[in-house]
Amino acid sequence: MRQLLKMTLLAAAALTALGAHALDYPAKDKNVTLVVPFSAGGPTDRVARDLAEALRKPLGANVIVDNSAGAGSSIGAAKVARATPDGYTLLLNHIGMSTMPALYRKLSFNVLNDFEYLGLVNDVPMTLVARPSMPAQNYKELSAWIAQNKGKINLGNAGLGSASHLCGLLVQSALQTDMTTVPYKGTAPAMTDLIGGQIDLMCDQTTNTTGQIESKKIKAYAVTTTKRLSTPALKDLPTMAESGVKNFEVTIWHGLYAPKGTPAEVLKKINDALKVALKDPEFIKKQEGLGAIVVSDKRVEPAEHKKFVQAEIDKWGALIKTSGQYAD
Ligand code: ASP
Repeated sequence: MRQLLKMTLLAAAALTALGAHALDYPAKDKNVTLVVPFSAGGPTDRVARDLAEALRKPLGANVIVDNSAGAGSSIGAAKVARATPDGYTLLLNHIGMSTMPALYRKLSFNVLNDFEYLGLVNDVPMTLVARPSMPAQNYKELSAWIAQNKGKINLGNAGLGSASHLCGLLVQSALQTDMTTVPYKGTAPAMTDLIGGQIDLMCDQTTNTTGQIESKKIKAYAVTTTKRLSTPALKDLPTMAESGVKNFEVTIWHGLYAPKGTPAEVLKKINDALKVALKDPEFIKKQEGLGAIVVSDKRVEPAEHKKFVQAEIDKWGALIKTSGQYAD
């Protein structure tokens, strides 16, 4: 009897040490906020909203998307780095996570030390697209048009360090033309201006361009993958290599993060839910319909995710330092 009492007391003490809230997570009356560091209706937002839906059941909580856009994803990321580490505020971010440390020298957080890594989510190719009135019918004609219009071309992007910024830099270097870049808080508003003809070109994720290409609201010239895509609306698009541009490969990845210090039990629950969500046939179907490939196996492991981001930081950091282009 004494032994049993002692064990019960020890168990109670252990519970207090863990924080009862960690074991209750997620509480029935609480929503989980998923911060998206780009505009609503754009490519990252689309991934986040599909993921929020897929996470709802396995996590046992409503997941609400919060768009905190601007400064190449650093505003939204800072918000999560500062949030209470209780599992109720998460971040979905893309490659910007690895370009920020080099580009923004006055970042208020450290990408590797101020976040818990929860796993990668997907890989997303990009497409080179133009306003609907663009006269060029294919990449060859587009490069001729670009050569004739040097100094007059506007290229939209989602801010320094964004995927569209990086891809746009590669396009300008491939075509040996400097364009006027027009930064937005995300490529959702940039897409509105592209459709309206206020900007000429953009290099954007398929999660934003597929629907617009399908409905012929914009013109598309190439995909940035080494192989053609199988998504029906994109399968006829040539790769950049087929179009004559060698060594042009850009794939954007997304990952899930929590503020540093989130209890291990909570992190495990979120990671377990993420693993289930990434196997959800509905989520996979929606993502594939937008040209994205959902990740699996060890890429959903937190340690692997962190290792991958570290390698990406090294890769992009070296390129950014060489280019000497900083945001601040
Ligand atoms: N497409 C944006 C980018 O270039 C991200 C977004 O707007 O969601 O990074």
